[in-house]
Amino acid sequence: MITISSADKELEKKTILKEYRLLLRTLKPKLKSTSDKMDIRRAFEMAVEGHKDMRRKSGEPYIHHPIAVAQIVAGEIGLGVTSVICALLHDTVEDTDLTLEDIELNFDKNTAKIIDGLTKISGSFELNMNTTQQAENFRKLLLTLTDDIRVILIKIADRLHNMRTMDSMASQKQKKIASETLYIYAPLAHRLGLYAIKSELEDLSLKYTQPEVFQDIVQKLNETKKERTKYINEFIAPLKELLEEKKFNFEISGRPKSIYSIYNKMKTKQVSFEEVYDLFAIRIILNAPLEREKSDCWGVYSVITDLYHPQPDRLRDWVSTPKTNGYEALHTTVMGHQGKWVEVQIRSKRMHEIAEMGLAAHWKYKENSQDNALDEWLERIRETLSNPDTSTMDFITNVRQELFNEEIYVFTPKGELKRLKAGATALDFAFEIHSAIGMKCIGAKINHKLVPLSHKLHNGDQVEILTSSKQQPNEDWLKFVVTSKAISVLKKTLQEEKKITAEIGKEIFEKKLKQFEIPNTDHNLQTAIKYYKYVSALDFFFNIAAKKLTLSDLKDLAVQGGKLMIPANKSEQGESFEDRIKRELKKNAELLIMGESSDMIKYGFANCCNPVAGDDVFGFITVNEGIKIHRTNCPNAVQLMSKYDYRIVKTRWNKQHEIAFLTGVKITGLDDVGVINKMTNIITGQLKINMRSLSFDTDDGIFEGKIMVYVHNTQQLDMLIDELKKLSGVLSVSRIEDNEKGDR
Ligand code: MN
Repeated sequence: MITISSADKELEKKTILKEYRLLLRTLKPKLKSTSDKMDIRRAFEMAVEGHKDMRRKSGEPYIHHPIAVAQIVAGEIGLGVTSVICALLHDTVEDTDLTLEDIELNFDKNTAKIIDGLTKISGSFELNMNTTQQAENFRKLLLTLTDDIRVILIKIADRLHNMRTMDSMASQKQKKIASETLYIYAPLAHRLGLYAIKSELEDLSLKYTQPEVFQDIVQKLNETKKERTKYINEFIAPLKELLEEKKFNFEISGRPKSIYSIYNKMKTKQVSFEEVYDLFAIRIILNAPLEREKSDCWGVYSVITDLYHPQPDRLRDWVSTPKTNGYEALHTTVMGHQGKWVEVQIRSKRMHEIAEMGLAAHWKYKENSQDNALDEWLERIRETLSNPDTSTMDFITNVRQELFNEEIYVFTPKGELKRLKAGATALDFAFEIHSAIGMKCIGAKINHKLVPLSHKLHNGDQVEILTSSKQQPNEDWLKFVVTSKAISVLKKTLQEEKKITAEIGKEIFEKKLKQFEIPNTDHNLQTAIKYYKYVSALDFFFNIAAKKLTLSDLKDLAVQGGKLMIPANKSEQGESFEDRIKRELKKNAELLIMGESSDMIKYGFANCCNPVAGDDVFGFITVNEGIKIHRTNCPNAVQLMSKYDYRIVKTRWNKQHEIAFLTGVKITGLDDVGVINKMTNIITGQLKINMRSLSFDTDDGIFEGKIMVYVHNTQQLDMLIDELKKLSGVLSVSRIEDNEKGDR
């Protein structure tokens, strides 16, 4: 129990009222009547009363949270009165005595419905939840999206405020919430066009999942700020002058990319901060009437390219064809001074508002827009959701991919525009038209040329689908479809076929039972499935039918009183690896010390990130290969932590243990006589590191090499990288992060 003095209580009350008044001020343009004002006041008072005895982890009164969420909903997403009421009351039905009936009585059906949605998806993806539950919650979350999209917008605001105020939470919990945010909420925000929120969610996620990396980038950004500002000003000055001369009404600014996008670039491009820190975007926002927007944007483009040379393949025109989430702008990349590429974004004020506030702004302007791409997208999600047979995990993966997609634009033979995920094939297009057409698709004509099903589509392609009534879908098709609709329809069909095949397996199994005089009971079936280590009867029967499993040792199992028994010496084998790990972990308090426990527990190093002693790592329990050790910054880590958090084991290195790790470095430099010799001297001579392989390619006087070495820890690896960097002619040296393992 916390006791608070009455003076403190007075102060708390004042702060709460101040926040409430700020909320009212933000909402002012949306308040149409006195009854609006009274509704808001009532919602506020109900929330204050309901949460009056609750405090947040930080110690402050709980009511700060719903007010802050309402503030985000009004100020950062631009929603109106109903949404603000719902945000104020979003935690009441779950955590206080208020009921949905109370809400409906005090407000209306709609308000109650939104709060019901928020209550249902609260606690989504909680800790210790298994994957099926998680996927089910995710599905619920998305259903609300197609039901009343305000539910999801308020949920995003709720998550944003929680992420902003996570400091007093335990670090393990912070990491889990942050991973989940990165996995689900950031993509959702992206898809709904809330770019500012998306990027804040990503930055905050990085702050909690990889605090050192985050702080490092923040610090370096501060150190380089002056230099960057100077460059931006020099770039902008002549542009501004010219635009003013041409009488454009505009604002121009430049700012660095988000911390997360810098981090992402460093990771995917394998470069240092110094090579990306000067990435920034120049933004020109035009004050132009709707009918002149497009021509003004192109007018500005013309001025820019008079001044700076554009990179022809980096022009993006989302003014003529907006993105599905409503985003409109013209992007170009031009050559600035000192040989630097600079991205310039051109948009009108209206387009800018859509880019910042996403959907809400999109709706606001909807009457003016003949484009209903967003509705099309929601329709697609609805279709995927209505297919209850999709395996839950696949479902999450598909929809998630759908959220983060870049898009291509293609045309039907009649010239109708279709948006598809980048990487989509002719077959995806067929499924996009109709499931039945997808099933019977045998090929396509693209721009009048015949292509196979697997042909990848490009922007602007005109696609005509060819079908045959004899066509049958097969497993291979899954290798080249990428849209969630095609994947889910195909999987469903193939699953049905699997069920038919499994029926044959079931008959074979029953015949065997008869032959060995074992009664056909559910107990005996379950025992057999367990004995052969299958997870489901379907898999078990299917493998029998596919002749991957013979039932010959069924007769060796003991039958007692008609019951099939697994002999004692076999049951030990039957214990799943996961169970064994759990047993070991009980003895060892959730901590696996690399090296020491290696006799008891099988482990290996993940080859997606090749960890080396000293790296931050975690263990992941795999089905067949024991514990795999991943680096915490492994590209797969977020997904693993978020989807399978119950399979993660805390892992740290045992200092005494001397193991050699295979890792690699990538070197580029000027091709010069003896350069390889110098490198091998450093590696094997000076540093006494064992080298496994070495490969070099040269192209036009530049060489690129990969050296695979065995090191004991990260210090040794860093030392190697430093020494190699000192060589004359060497341009860059970096650790190989992915699984390109040299010349094997
Ligand atoms: Mn909340």
